[in-house]
Amino acid sequence: MGATEELQARFDAALMPTYGTPPIALARGEGRYVWDVDGRRYLDLIAGIAVSALGHGHPALTEAVSAQVARLAHTSNLFLHEGEVELAERLIGLLGGAGEGARVFFTNSGTEANEAALKLVKRAAGPGRDHIVAAASGFHGRSLGALALTGKAAIREPFGPFGLDVRFVPYGDAAALREAVTDSCIAVFVEPTQGEAGVVVPPRDYLRDVRAACDAAGAALVLDEIQSGVGRTGHWFAHQGAGVVPDVLTLAKGLGGGLPIGACVGFGDHATAFAKGDHGSTFGGNPVAVAAALAVLDTIESEKLLANAVELGELLAERVRAIGHPLVAEVRGAGLWRAIRLSQQAAAEVQARAAAHGLLVNAVAPDVIRIAPPLTITRAEIEEFTGALPAVLDEAAAGREASG
Ligand SMILES: *Cc1c(COP(=O)(O)O)cnc(C)c1O
Repeated sequence: MGATEELQARFDAALMPTYGTPPIALARGEGRYVWDVDGRRYLDLIAGIAVSALGHGHPALTEAVSAQVARLAHTSNLFLHEGEVELAERLIGLLGGAGEGARVFFTNSGTEANEAALKLVKRAAGPGRDHIVAAASGFHGRSLGALALTGKAAIREPFGPFGLDVRFVPYGDAAALREAVTDSCIAVFVEPTQGEAGVVVPPRDYLRDVRAACDAAGAALVLDEIQSGVGRTGHWFAHQGAGVVPDVLTLAKGLGGGLPIGACVGFGDHATAFAKGDHGSTFGGNPVAVAAALAVLDTIESEKLLANAVELGELLAERVRAIGHPLVAEVRGAGLWRAIRLSQQAAAEVQARAAAHGLLVNAVAPDVIRIAPPLTITRAEIEEFTGALPAVLDEAAAGREASG
């Protein structure tokens, strides 16, 4: 028995079976590569679900986190520390003119950022508003509030009913959304591009139409940029590319480069809708997580990673399309956040064959492969992936024929 199988057996005996048994046990990482406990090397094209923005073992992240944990690891919110102030200021600055007057609340995860947003829009809503609109197949988290907003029925319905009236509309359908966003709507929660649904890109004017529907009804627009934010699409935030300004913005995943941190940003009236005592978190804004986030933002700037995301994301999409493989139906997404939609329900086979070739990709849906590598990925590493992909696709297609 290899070290992987041994760990898997212990995992199965000690952890709740929420994730099934992961096929690979990781031991360490360096740059865009990770090694498993049996010493096999993989090129990481998923980055812990769009989290490890700087890859693995980046010196800027290592030094910032090590120095901070030695200096002061925790304060609680009984005391402030400079890092949380600096990070909030930096995020507001990155929002440009739209961020003027914005304020930030720090959390430990994306789910908690959405929970904060949910409480915030309820606090800010005028009388007579009673429901929320969200997108079918959207994903906003697993806690009861965030789950009530999550469109995927299979994960939501076993845990209902929820004390929240959420009305779902098809994603990308502006007319359906306009109809649901009435004068009694509190807020719309939506992802600029749906991540967990399979990097689903809406029609070009969709976010502007959503903004207009919210404005017409006096409802708040909450953009969940937990997956799309912090450089993933080649913009600091995806909504900047769509030309809209939300009332509330939620962030997490890439923000900490692997350390757990999330943020809920309120704009305009929503900046100050929480009064003292309305919300809190013991760990939120933790100095170590904040130091990591500052290192991530610094490094995205100093290494010009937004431009890298645009350039290498295009290269990736072009190269995959150029293979012209019958299993590839479509390549979509922006920046270093891409989906390969397959012509068959073969994503699990593609993920498994890719791993056998030392490439980590993610079967996000039965017919969709998600690619979200570290933003530090190089041209040579993209070419390593696209060079190996024809064989991976051939083997996946052959495997399906043999088993079908
Ligand atoms: C991952 C994700 C969440 C949940 O974030 P956690 O950190 O897992 O709690 C919420 N919304 C979107 C769009 C996500 O991708």
